[in-house]
Amino acid sequence: MTDHIHDLFIIGGGINGCGIARDAAGRGLSVVLAEQGDLASATSSASTKLFHGGLRYLEYFEFRLVREALIERETLLQAMPHISWPMRFVLPYHDSMRFEGATPTSRLLNVVMPWMKGRRPAWLIRLGLFLYDHLGGREILPPTQLVDLRTAVEGEPLLSKFETAYEYSDCWVEDARLVALNARDAVNRGARVFTRTKVIAADRLEDHWVVTLEDVETGEHSTERARMLINAAGPWVGNVIANTLRLNSRDGVRLVRGSHIVTKRLYDHEKCYFFQGTDGRIIFAIPYETDFTLIGTTDAEHHVVSEKPLCTEDERDYLIHFANGYFKRQLTADDVVWTYSGVRPLYDDGSSSATAATRDYTLKVDDTGGARSSIFSGARSRPIGGLPRPRWRRSKAMSQT
Ligand SMILES: Cc1cc2nc3c(=O)[nH]c(=O)nc-3n(C[C@H](O)[C@H](O)[C@H](O)COP(=O)(O)OP(=O)(O)OC[C@H]3O[C@@H](n4cnc5c(N)ncnc54)[C@H](O)[C@@H]3O)c2cc1C
Repeated sequence: MTDHIHDLFIIGGGINGCGIARDAAGRGLSVVLAEQGDLASATSSASTKLFHGGLRYLEYFEFRLVREALIERETLLQAMPHISWPMRFVLPYHDSMRFEGATPTSRLLNVVMPWMKGRRPAWLIRLGLFLYDHLGGREILPPTQLVDLRTAVEGEPLLSKFETAYEYSDCWVEDARLVALNARDAVNRGARVFTRTKVIAADRLEDHWVVTLEDVETGEHSTERARMLINAAGPWVGNVIANTLRLNSRDGVRLVRGSHIVTKRLYDHEKCYFFQGTDGRIIFAIPYETDFTLIGTTDAEHHVVSEKPLCTEDERDYLIHFANGYFKRQLTADDVVWTYSGVRPLYDDGSSSATAATRDYTLKVDDTGGARSSIFSGARSRPIGGLPRPRWRRSKAMSQT
């Protein structure tokens, strides 16, 4: 056992763990991170690989979340131009489109404009995109514009009933590289990062934690001490609270699987499509690795964390059916060359559907004795900047009320 007491011990080498390690090491804290597998081996390499403001969250009135993400979007683009780039998203519109999902906006529209019968009017989309353009002080990325699909190249792969689209900006990032770069920079700033090292126990002494590690290849055990413990175990966040820290907690995690399908390239331009479904959900079709198109994602309850997330036939067929409502070329299961899935570790806010569960961060802080913090993360990652100080303070205050 080493007697040295570090400032911070982080469980989990996904984007949250590695982003926090980099941020904390950069602030001069002594940091140790343990990852049971490889860096970014779980959710952080299975995302849609976008950093965006979350256009659809506007329908949930999540204005703060969207504003923060939009501001962060341009900061990230400037910070990592070698692994990220801007993308234009084409959102086709047809006036028969309905949204069955019970978002706060659809409920409000049903009350004030009952004759719309679930239709998502064009002015609502324009309003959403206007807010999206202006909420976050966009400077680098080009604004929204209208596209005439009857003449534009973006209309060619789509069914002829789509005559109009809105085109807006968001960004792409190589998600797994982003994690590895954060870890490397954390190490350059003095952090120690162990991979294939599982945290099997953590015991709270008066003012610090004793963390027991297991080398998953040799089975050897070792210990580290730290004044503060960060639980950034992603889908395992609840497991770590209950089984590793052996704490009683009322905080629940909701595991929501998201799957993607990959097909041979479906169209010849470099823009993405944003498709709205009749179930209130949206999916993206994105140019992928030069010769392919990436289509996703789904929202499916994932009950057992130890079960490797895989795209089920139902999820595959759902995505094919969704895309076939837009593309001229009708896809079948034979067009799918690859699938991948990840599990979102969402904070259980009691929402009835997986789609409606909050995608915002929830940071729970317990500072009795050796301090501990658990991260329940949604779709928003704060990778390069990690967690800025004001956010820590606010989250701490929130958790004490
Ligand atoms: C389908 C899908 C699409 C998404 N798309 C986007 C997107 O486009 N843009 C976006 O910003 N976000 C997106 N997200 C969300 C984003 O991917 C997650 O918020 C983020 O990856 C969560 O990172 P994490 O570090 O918390 O978890 P993870 O990446 O899962 O990392 C947790 C790590 O902890 C390790 N661990 C667990 N227990 C232990 C233990 N006892 N000891 C040691 N290590 C342990 C695990 O092995 C794992 O590597 C998407 C998510 C999904 C599922």
